[in-house]
Amino acid sequence: MVEFLKAAEVGEEMRWADISKKSVNKLALELSASIYRADGKSTFKEEFVTAGGVDLKEIEFKTFASKKIPNLYFAGEVLNIDAVTGGFNFQAAWTGGWIVGNAMAEAFK
Ligand SMILES: Cc1cc2nc3c(=O)[nH]c(=O)nc-3n(C[C@H](O)[C@H](O)[C@H](O)COP(=O)(O)OP(=O)(O)OC[C@H]3O[C@@H](n4cnc5c(N)ncnc54)[C@H](O)[C@@H]3O)c2cc1C
Repeated sequence: MVEFLKAAEVGEEMRWADISKKSVNKLALELSASIYRADGKSTFKEEFVTAGGVDLKEIEFKTFASKKIPNLYFAGEVLNIDAVTGGFNFQAAWTGGWIVGNAMAEAFK
């Protein structure tokens, strides 16, 4: 069990809504006041929490429109950009969003 959950007497499977106020306070104290020793870093790529999404082959990248379904656009995390992006996911989401916004405004004017 995760150490800070154990210390705050919160079960790993507990739902947030079911946690008592006392345990929430213990958890906040545990997270903000405890000292944890780092044993090293984990394997590269373990930090990836999401993968998958709409296949890039299905996207027209000039407008980010779906090649399959007319008037459907995708941008950001919903696309299957699965690579070592080095923190450029935000940039991809913002740029894609801007392109989609412009393309939609053009398509529906
Ligand atoms: C822990 C973590 C750290 C990260 N660190 C970095 C970093 O350092 N640099 C970087 O570039 N990227 C980082 N990323 C990735 C980055 O956060 C995402 O790529 C980016 O936020 C994607 O933006 P988005 O708008 O596509 O999706 P999101 O930010 O996920 O936005 C989607 C929104 O849609 C809403 N939503 C979902 N379903 C529905 C629905 N049915 N109806 C209405 N709304 C809905 C959600 O609530 C959410 O607000 C990190 C991601 C995580 C999880």
